[in-house]
Amino acid sequence: MAYERLTEILRDSSRIVFFGGAGVSTASGIPDFRSADGLYQQKYRRTLSPEEMVSHSFFVQDPEDFFAFYKDKLIYPEAQPNGCHRALAKLEEMGKLLSVVTQNIDGLHQAAGSKRVWELHGSVLRNYCTRCRKFYGVETVLEAEGVPRCPACGGIIKPDVVLYEEGLDEKVINGAVSDIRRADTLIIGGTSLVVYPAAGFIYYFRGKHLVLINKSETGADSMAELVIRDDISKVMEEAVSAL
Ligand code: ZN
Repeated sequence: MAYERLTEILRDSSRIVFFGGAGVSTASGIPDFRSADGLYQQKYRRTLSPEEMVSHSFFVQDPEDFFAFYKDKLIYPEAQPNGCHRALAKLEEMGKLLSVVTQNIDGLHQAAGSKRVWELHGSVLRNYCTRCRKFYGVETVLEAEGVPRCPACGGIIKPDVVLYEEGLDEKVINGAVSDIRRADTLIIGGTSLVVYPAAGFIYYFRGKHLVLINKSETGADSMAELVIRDDISKVMEEAVSAL
């Protein structure tokens, strides 16, 4: 019933924007890093929260422990796209989807074939030397023992990921907001819509259909035409395959 209604909405849409959070990647085996348990903290005898472990100041003050946590909790080289990623790539191929706006940093939308992806928080797949600005892939970080260093100049390599205390990329925000303004349908999935400024993007939407798909309640449920409380991977895969 809810899925059928979603399929009808997709049929009626030609400028869909999908806005996704951590829940989009959980079916690919990537847990929300905020759920990192106390074991890690015991290991390093720290009382830092997961957010503090991926903050800019921690990166600067203690890059060794930053990278230990980052490699352990934020990079998943074996992860594969799931049904949600594939369904969105298919919608774009059909000419129905404008873009994907994501809070995830795993690159799985592009791996599934999506072309226009606004990565609000950057990507673990891109890394750059903080001294000479040369770019490196994820392997350079994974293969490094401890803090990854630039083979060209010896500078510290930083993930092209927006850390806590850092601002979002303006070009990415503007691109995402401009697409949301033009969208006839906005599907928000796998996020409880609590992380600002991204959570405020919903207010730029002026289209017809607002759909929320999340396992638990979100702050915007009352604004939506359709709310589906289920696994986003399953929901999107079924709704798109019925088109
Ligand atoms: Zn360098």
